[in-house]
Parts: sequence; structure tokens; C-alpha cells
Amino acid sequence: MNGGAHTLAEVPVSTLKGVGPALSEKLAKLGIQTLGQLLFHLPSRYLDRTRVQPIGGLQPGISAVIEAEIRACDVLYGRRRSLVCKVQDNTGTLTLRFFHFTAAQKQRLIAGARLRCFGELRRGGSGLEIVHPEYEVLDRGQPKPLEQSFTPHYPTTEGLTQPRIRALMEQALVRLEQQPIAELLPEALTRSLGQVPLSQALKLLHKPPLNTDLQAISEGTHPYQQRLVFEELLAHQLSMLMFRHSAKRATAIPLQDATGLTEQFKEQLPFALTAAQQRVTAEIMTDLAQPEPMLRLVQGDVGSGKTVVAALAALAAVASGQQAVIMAPTEILAEQHYANFSQWLSPLGLQVNYLSGRQKAAARRESLSAVAQGEAHIVVGTHAVFQEDVQFARLALAIIDEQHRFGVHQRLALSDKAPPGTTPHQLIMTATPIPRTLAMSAYADLDCSVIDELPPGRTPVSTVVISDQRRAEVIERVNTACQDGRQAYWVCTLIEESEALEAQAAEATCELLQSCLPNARVALVHGRMKSREKEAVMTAFKAGEIDLLVATTVIEVGVDVPNASLMIIENPERLGLSQLHQLRGRVGRGATASHCVLLYGSPLSNHSKERLRVMRESSDGFYIAEQDLELRGPGEVLGTRQTGAMQFRIADLGRDAYLLPQVNAAAESMLRHHPGHAQALLQRWLSGREKYLGA
Ligand code: ADP
Ligand code: MG
Repeated sequence: MNGGAHTLAEVPVSTLKGVGPALSEKLAKLGIQTLGQLLFHLPSRYLDRTRVQPIGGLQPGISAVIEAEIRACDVLYGRRRSLVCKVQDNTGTLTLRFFHFTAAQKQRLIAGARLRCFGELRRGGSGLEIVHPEYEVLDRGQPKPLEQSFTPHYPTTEGLTQPRIRALMEQALVRLEQQPIAELLPEALTRSLGQVPLSQALKLLHKPPLNTDLQAISEGTHPYQQRLVFEELLAHQLSMLMFRHSAKRATAIPLQDATGLTEQFKEQLPFALTAAQQRVTAEIMTDLAQPEPMLRLVQGDVGSGKTVVAALAALAAVASGQQAVIMAPTEILAEQHYANFSQWLSPLGLQVNYLSGRQKAAARRESLSAVAQGEAHIVVGTHAVFQEDVQFARLALAIIDEQHRFGVHQRLALSDKAPPGTTPHQLIMTATPIPRTLAMSAYADLDCSVIDELPPGRTPVSTVVISDQRRAEVIERVNTACQDGRQAYWVCTLIEESEALEAQAAEATCELLQSCLPNARVALVHGRMKSREKEAVMTAFKAGEIDLLVATTVIEVGVDVPNASLMIIENPERLGLSQLHQLRGRVGRGATASHCVLLYGSPLSNHSKERLRVMRESSDGFYIAEQDLELRGPGEVLGTRQTGAMQFRIADLGRDAYLLPQVNAAAESMLRHHPGHAQALLQRWLSGREKYLGA
């Protein structure tokens, strides 16, 4: 390791020439307070001012230096008055356009004059043009020398210009020269990665010399960038592990079923647990018996039977004289759990209470009191269970269903609900299978259990892929199903990132289907409806009062309607495979054989064909997730967890996932052998993102 560690990281930017309070404030907006932070503020792209380029080879969107002769220069009076200069070199012509210009400028920009210009090319009315180029008339004396390195372009904030921020960086780079930035990675690791010293990587990225592979840089694959990517991924991984370690240091109440309550429960179930359910339950029971909080994620495909496993965990709490809470992300799911738990547990003489934000005041008061007095053994609800007025008598276990809807801070809020000095055990359940490597990164703070088996007797949903040119046939098929007393879903997918448009499309489809199917009871549910309305429709569908439910993707999560055995998904090519799998999991929950029709918009690209083929051939959520990862990249697979929480400066999980196994191993080893450096690395990459630094 270098001596003089961390110092640059601690030197305030105000020590640079020209940085007064006003500029300091602007820099602070960019998260820059120290020289270290300034140096880690990397360019978003680079401009090439190192060479003169022939006009004939230029493309819109790039910035370039050209040298050319003015052919004509005129003031045009279009929508806006502008000075328009046609210039030419021996490879082509180009337009320069000035909306603001002085009389002196106009006088000098005359036909025959030679110019050197720099600016960003765009497609204009008559070929390529540059608006407001920087320019220099060449006829007089020596032109300025060309740049010796590529010009960085930085993310910035209002009032902080590129030249200004570049000048600051120049100063910082001089300081870096005198005092390299601390290497925080263990030497063995940098060696095995074949990587350059950090200071060198930073220097190159701020000032790439002429021979730099700019293509690689723009793709983010340059070894010097990958050096930083590795650090950033490592910092994220470390933050999660540290979060976990600090969470594990808390005290939890050990839970054990000494009374045989769980056995009693299993005996009265109409089915036997699958081997996978038994194994995962055993893992949970081992955790619960410890005096430190369980932090466990249960992944299990839709229909794998996570709810029973959750109930068993809850019973361990009850048998130990404690309370358990189960949270679901929506009212519909919370009510479904409430119904299940009440039905299962009332025969055992246990009290289950319900809490939601939309309860009538009296019901809520009653629940609140039962929870606070300890009469409630188990509490089921929505986010409402987090609210401040909810007091538990002795909360020891929190179960969170469909985890991707809950944030880290909500999990923290929950800790306050346990008796002073203790933290509840946490069980998180998700139906979104995540391939192992990714799970190790996205859920590094959790232990993982997988229910990798479906209860016996399920016939897999048979899936067909059909072009929407055969829509009429499909509608007829729905008609037959409804006449036979079966229920169906018709799912309209997102057209754009707009819930409003999606809702509109669903409304139109619903009207169309109503007119095509006069004998069927057709209803609509979409994300723009009030949750009360949504729920009314779902309840009616569940009760069999609706034959065909036209829905947007809002039905994705966890709703159980066993009599629904047919699902049509329009434009499935717009969705991720995992999402399709979730949707499809809504059918195939009862005894009748179920069908899923993927009604694609033709023509279909080869890539989409390949993806839909995966859906047709497999019903294994993990296999599908692996394929999704391969075909679409981790951003899509991780969904909200990635977009919501894992925001990277330079890393990109899609591009850099291959580093994860090494990053994960490095994180473990660094925590063990160099905890001080781990902390410094977090500071370097994540300062200002407190929620990651543990609580
Ligand atoms: P998910 O994992 O999607 O939450 P659920 O817990 O809702 O799945 O279970 C789906 C259905 O399977 C429920 O009706 C449940 O009662 C039933 N089930 C769960 N475990 C078994 C089992 N071992 N054998 C038979 N049916 C089961
Ligand atoms: Mg469920």
C-alpha cells in the first residue's frame, strides 16, 4: 500500500486556485468536496480535438475539428435570423450556423477565408451542420496547436462550465502527480487482475493521450475503466456485507417450537410439505433459534408454496410466546394472506389480526389494540404495519412477501417495532428467481433459501405462441372457455413507459372483447384505477362473478384464482421473460389443465422468437431467469432492485457482470483482512449515499 494513504481524499477542493465559496457550493451539488471526490468525478464522454478531420468522413452526433474554406456566407431570414456559412474542404461541404453574431464576425467570415472549426455535428436542412462552432480564421499567422490529449466532457451543474471544471481537474491532476491516490485493493488482487495503479487509471481517464482506444472507452471496457468498475462493484458489495454484519450484531429473541404447534399445524393441512418446503423450513428454524436476527431470503417460483413456509416460521414465534407480522405489497395480497392465515390458524386457537391503511377506523382501532396488548398472535397487513402508531407487544419475526417492493429503509423502520434492545428476525420471500451470481450481489446482505420444487399434481401450463393475425381464433377460444365455466385473463402489456397509455389500450381492448363476447362477463383492471376499484374487480373475479378479466400487468404479483385456467398475453415480446413467467403463474393453480397464449405482434424479430421459445419450452422460473439474463442482461432481471437501489457511477451490471464472482470473493477477503481499507473504499465510492453504509 502507498504511504500517505487517503490524504488526497481529505484535502478540500477549496485549496485549489480559484475555488471560492460560490464555486465550492456548485461542486458540492455534484457531491464534490475533496480532491479525491473531484478526481473520481469522471468524464461522461470525450471530444477529439487532437486532429483535423476530413468533412467527407463526419457523422452527426460527434464533435470534430475541421479545416475548410468559406464558399459563401449570408444572413438568412427564416424563422430566426441566422448567419449561414457554407464551407468546403477537398472531401465535402458543411454548413456553419450562427444565430447570434456581431457585425465584426460577419465581416471576417467572407468567401475565400480559411477556417479551423470545432463543434458538434448535426443533421441540418441541407446536410451536416455545426451550430455556433468555435472557430479561428487561419489566414493570419500560426493556428493554435492541436490538443495533445482527448478533451473530457464532464457531468456538471448549472453555472459550472466545461472549461472551468476542466481547469480544476488540471490542477487536481498536478496534485495527483505529487501525491498518488491511496491504493485500497490488496496488492495480490491488483496483481492478479493485471491492473494498473489507480492514479494512472484516473490520469488517463481525465486526459486520454493520443494513442488511447477511444472506442473501448466509449463502451466502458477499457482496462483503466474496468479497474475503477471493479472498485465500484467491490464498494457496493462491501457495503451490503457490512450492512449485514452490523445487522447481525443486533440481538434477537431466539424462537423455538417447544410446544409442537408447528407439528399440529402440519397435521391439519390437507397436503404434505414438499421436500423443498421441508428443507427451507428447516433452514429457517435453525436461524430462528439463534440469538441474532435471521436475515433470510426465500426464493420460490410462483405456486411453490411459500405461504405455508411463512406460516410455519410465524408459528415458531407464537410457540415462543412472541408475535409475528406478515407484510404484503398490496391490499389484495394482504387480504389473501389474512384469509389463508385465519383459516389455517383459528382452528389452533390463534388470533390473527389485519392492519391496512384503508380499514374502517373502528376495525383499525381494534387491531391496533390487539397488537399492542399482545392478544394478536399474528398480524397481517400492508405497509400500514410500519406506521408509527402501530405498537407491538412483543414482535420477534417480520415476514415480507414479494420483497422487491420493499426498500431497505422500510426494513429498518421495522426494527423499531421490536422490544427495546432486540431486532426482529426477518424473512423475505420473493417469486422472482435470480441467477446465482446476480443474487450474490443483489442480495449479499441476505442468506438465501430456494424452494426449487412445485407441489405434486400440477400440470404445467401449456404455452402456445400465436401471431396476432389470428386474434379472431383466440377470441373464439376464450369464448369457449367462458361458456365451459372457466375463467380467463387477457393481459395488455406496456406500450411505452406510460401507465396512462397502457390503461387506455386496456380499455379499448376491453370494449372490443365485450362486443365480441356478448355472453361473457368481461371486466377491466388497470394501474390507473383507485385501489378500492381494483380490489372490487379482483374480488368479483375471485368469486367467479367475472368470466374474463382484461388487465394490465398489475395482476403480476401473487393473486390466487384457482378457477382461472386460460391467459392471453398480448405483445409478450415487450416483457422480460421473468415477468412473463410471473404473469403465467396466475393460471395453473387449480386442477384443470391450463393454457397460456402468447399473442405476439408480427413480424417478430429473431431475438424475440428465441425468447418466446424459452417460454414455450420451459416452466422453470430459474431456467427462465438464466435465459433472461443471457438475452436481456441483469438490469432487466433484477428489475426494481437494480434501478431503485443499485445506482452506479461507472459500473454497468449488463456489461460488467462477468466481474461479479471475483468481486464477491474479494469483498469477503477484504472484510476479513483489511477492514480499514474496506471502510475507505466505501467512503470513496458511496459517501453521500448513507442508506448503504449501514445504519
Ligand atoms: P407462492 O409460493 O406462489 O406464494 P402459495 O403459497 O400461494 O404459492 O401456494 C400456492 C398453492 O399451493 C396454494 O393453494 C397452497 O395451498 C398450495 N400448496 C402449497 N404447498 C403445497 C403442497 N406441499 N402440496 C400441495 N399444495 C400445496
Ligand atoms: Mg405468494
